[in-house]
Amino acid sequence: MVNVGRIVAVSGPLITAVFDRPVVQNEVGYALIDDLRLKAELIRVRGDYADLQVFEDTTGLFVGGQVAFTGEMLAAELGPGLLGQVVDGLQNPLFDLAEASGYFLPRGSYLAPLDRERRWPFTPHARVGDEVRAGDTLGTVPEGQIAHRVMVPFGWRGRWTVREVAEAGEARLDDPVATLEDDRGHARTVTMVQRWPVKVPIRAYDQRLRPAEPLVTKIRIVDTLFPVARGGTFCVPGPFGAGKTVLQQLMSRHAEVDVVVVAACGERAGEVVETLREFPELIDPRTGRSLMERTVIVCNTSSMPVAAREASVYTAVTVAEYYRQMGLDVLLLADSTSRWAQALREVSGRLEEIPGEEAFPAYLESVVAAFYERAGLVRLSDGSVGSVTIGGTVSPAGGNLEEPVTQATLKVAGAFHGLSRERSDARRYPAIDPLESWSHYPGVVNEADVLFARALLHEGADVAQMMKVVGEEGTTLDDFVRYLQAEYLDAAYLQQDAFDPVDAASGAERQAVVFGELVTLLRTPLRLSGKDAARRVFQQLGQATKDWNRCAWATPEFDVARDRLRALLDEMRAVEARPEEVRADA
Ligand code: ADP
Ligand code: MG
Repeated sequence: MVNVGRIVAVSGPLITAVFDRPVVQNEVGYALIDDLRLKAELIRVRGDYADLQVFEDTTGLFVGGQVAFTGEMLAAELGPGLLGQVVDGLQNPLFDLAEASGYFLPRGSYLAPLDRERRWPFTPHARVGDEVRAGDTLGTVPEGQIAHRVMVPFGWRGRWTVREVAEAGEARLDDPVATLEDDRGHARTVTMVQRWPVKVPIRAYDQRLRPAEPLVTKIRIVDTLFPVARGGTFCVPGPFGAGKTVLQQLMSRHAEVDVVVVAACGERAGEVVETLREFPELIDPRTGRSLMERTVIVCNTSSMPVAAREASVYTAVTVAEYYRQMGLDVLLLADSTSRWAQALREVSGRLEEIPGEEAFPAYLESVVAAFYERAGLVRLSDGSVGSVTIGGTVSPAGGNLEEPVTQATLKVAGAFHGLSRERSDARRYPAIDPLESWSHYPGVVNEADVLFARALLHEGADVAQMMKVVGEEGTTLDDFVRYLQAEYLDAAYLQQDAFDPVDAASGAERQAVVFGELVTLLRTPLRLSGKDAARRVFQQLGQATKDWNRCAWATPEFDVARDRLRALLDEMRAVEARPEEVRADA
């Protein structure tokens, strides 16, 4: 019998229903009006009252109306065919609908996310008699560039014995590919698709490992100064227009990962549509094919109901964890998590919960932490290693980093890439502030050189600050040179031209070579007769370095440009100031 409740209140995206048969937290219910079934999630139970957030516009719902409870948690469908998809928070595929309905589904209609008719060439891996557990591989199908593992469903507890496995050949999603038997002799059939409750982390692995290896994003300021780790987390706060979305797009394109999942919670309705238009045209620099082949986009715009926005973040991380179970490196980019937090705030307000800071719910911190904790590096039962790395943008109102969402994120993130309005106004991209940002992870270049560069950037900024007061005339030549050196490092290395085909992405080896060269250069005493001469020297060095940045790695031009920079430096080197002599003088 269906479990039906009666609506006693409607408040924005929220409804309250009385029920008389058991219900569970996070189960899905459908609010019924006429022929429509509006999907909703049970988010609170008090006595006989259930509060549900509806994933659709609630116009027309009325007191006395019915809610059909399903007993099933809000879940994602997982199987081959996810890659290349653009879905909303409830996994409705938007791609095909895009042009036809302007990216919005009619209310109350839900589409199956995966294609039931498509045939996949299945290759069995497990053999009859094998003993398997949740997450173990039964076979594979090729999906784009990856071998998609068909696994024992993650929710199946205990040990199972393989009784049957399909032979190599074409199979549809719902075709049985294996039959497993538990230790009491109960048999179950495995297909290529399984459902998983999005708010529960997938834990079908043996061990969590400490993220210690850099995830190369090919963005110099990130990899060199504020690295991200494979399986780690990072936070990108920045005011509106500072470049958060562009930065995430660059990462989704160039980062060294197998799969990218983008959770796009748009600031503006048009922004997500733009992403959808542009993304399929981007080329994967590694394969030369469409970037979409290894990407999943889960999107919502600010004009969609708040509950759907909340769901999109969980759907995205569930898909990311699913591909991690295949021993892959997955990057999840959430842009912007502030929109998600605002959805939480709105629902919490409607529930009349006791508000925390800035009216965000008091549990904001634990919700944010639980989300980022789903990142991680894991060892699977077959010994292979997979990772989910999570990077979330935050758009604090007025650029105020003290606000609750930024603060909650900073408590759990392993790296912080703060974008500054000052830098983006000066068109210094990426606008990551080198003075405010930090990372707890190891990077791709020499550690001592990083400390040297950081110190130099701080000193340069101090001199710049002082010069605002005393002017250039009141500044010593030494201080002025410090300032120029810091500016040089910033312009020639930290800034990167996203539109130059070579400069847009800088590999780890290249960063180590170029950064090492630049630090050597910056440590070399120069022959400078005065401030004008100093300005000229750094102007020339800057130009030579920028030219070098445009030469492809491992080409003769790259070496020629480096030699040109070295020759220039030789010309300007102070003959009398070899390092030993400087030390003797001091
Ligand atoms: P946010 O997401 O922080 O609001 P966007 O990422 O949309 O900001 O960036 C706003 C604009 O700034 C872009 O449309 C682009 O013109 C410029 N911009 C941002 N980052 C870069 C970059 N790395 N290189 C060049 N231009 C950039
Ligand atoms: Mg943006």
